[in-house]
Amino acid sequence: MLTKSVYNFNPGPAALPREVLEQARDELLDFAGTGMSVMEISHRSVEYERLNDESRERIRRLLGVPAGYEVLYLQGGASLQFAMVPLNLLVPGKVADYVSTGSWSNKAIKEARTVGEVRIAASTEQDGYRRVPDVGEIRPGPDAAYVHLTSNETIGGVQFHDFPDTGSVPLVADMSSDFMSRPVDVSKFALIYAGAQKNVGPAGVTIVIVREDIARESPKHLPAMLRYDTFLKSRSLYNTPPVFAIYMVNLVLQWIERQGGLEAVEKLNRRKADMLYGAIDRSGGFYRGLAERESRSTVNITFAVHDPALEKQFLKEAEQQGFVGLPGHREVGHVRVSAYNAVSEESCKALVEFMEDFQRRYG
Ligand SMILES: *Cc1c(COP(=O)(O)O)cnc(C)c1O
Repeated sequence: MLTKSVYNFNPGPAALPREVLEQARDELLDFAGTGMSVMEISHRSVEYERLNDESRERIRRLLGVPAGYEVLYLQGGASLQFAMVPLNLLVPGKVADYVSTGSWSNKAIKEARTVGEVRIAASTEQDGYRRVPDVGEIRPGPDAAYVHLTSNETIGGVQFHDFPDTGSVPLVADMSSDFMSRPVDVSKFALIYAGAQKNVGPAGVTIVIVREDIARESPKHLPAMLRYDTFLKSRSLYNTPPVFAIYMVNLVLQWIERQGGLEAVEKLNRRKADMLYGAIDRSGGFYRGLAERESRSTVNITFAVHDPALEKQFLKEAEQQGFVGLPGHREVGHVRVSAYNAVSEESCKALVEFMEDFQRRYG
């Protein structure tokens, strides 16, 4: 079979490991010896229950999730978590502290405001969202219900490389675009959420890692589907889960295990990012990184070409040469290289060669 060969730098949904896609293809008609695809069997079957438990156990193992936390599968994307977090955690008389670092955190803030009182605990708007705040700049108020931050701003390309200590105030993080791209000390957080479609699978499932004591406190007036305790009590089997997406996530988790776990994946991601930032920094201003150095993201590398007309030409030629997904988000423009887990070092190397060649021809 002939397949078009491209370098996939899509921001999300994004590249999946080729061997995972091949395995899914091979198993499509017969999942776990059932003679049916995973999409055609009951989510109450032994085979599906095993997948449900096994895959959540893999997340626990890979991330080192401590006792007292539960891994949940939800739907509605990270965007539903923008609402579910305040609905469940923002109790009357308290204020939600949010860290504003760009597009995604601001969407979370906007949604939280529909639920209750929000305070901006720290913001880098003054700096054009070119950095994340120092962790010392993030100080929750005494009446804080929780502190919310976005570990990686997918659009701006800024990332937290350490996390604040918020004491007894629960720390909540949207990790949609760097989930499972590096090890994380889960014990620092009360709740972590991530849509799967950047680093760990297709769209359709949202992974939530939550402290059980917090999940159990869901206010009683909330509808069942909007409460964390519903999914806690049912082991994420309250209603029909997105079975195919979860099946794919499990395959990607096994692939991460084969790579050597999150330390190995982080090393690879760092090598890829260093390669790309190296090309930007060596270009003498031909390419200009959009994020400040200390806040640079390892998974979304953003830059501009010094001249707008040349930038257009850059994106056009890149597309012709098979580099997919490079135009920056419509909110910020320029160039964004999304180099998530499944993007190979070879793809990044090919892009660096293209960047250098382009500069030689137009610089
Ligand atoms: C992609 C993304 C989202 C949105 O996810 P959906 O699953 O489309 O709702 C939210 N936050 C961050 C950081 C993202 O990268």
